[in-house]
Amino acid sequence: MAYSVGCTACQEVEELLFLLADGELDENTQERLQAHLDGCGQCKTLLDVEMHLRQLIKHCFERPVPADLEAKIRSQLAELQIGRL
Ligand SMILES: [Zn+2]
Repeated sequence: MAYSVGCTACQEVEELLFLLADGELDENTQERLQAHLDGCGQCKTLLDVEMHLRQLIKHCFERPVPADLEAKIRSQLAELQIGRL
């Protein structure tokens, strides 16, 4: 299935991405997002960024990262990644 960039489905995936990366979504929603990710390279990239960021933070910090710092890093990483598309 093909999705156009910036469609409603993409928007929903973006909003739920961090929950997906944390594995905090219910099964149905997770399956729905996964099905979208299989057909949408842009959202897949965003998920990769999200997962990568989690590993990075785990690796760099031994204690919890302040939420505002994490948000800052996340938005900068996402911008970098999107800029390359
Ligand atoms: Zn998408």
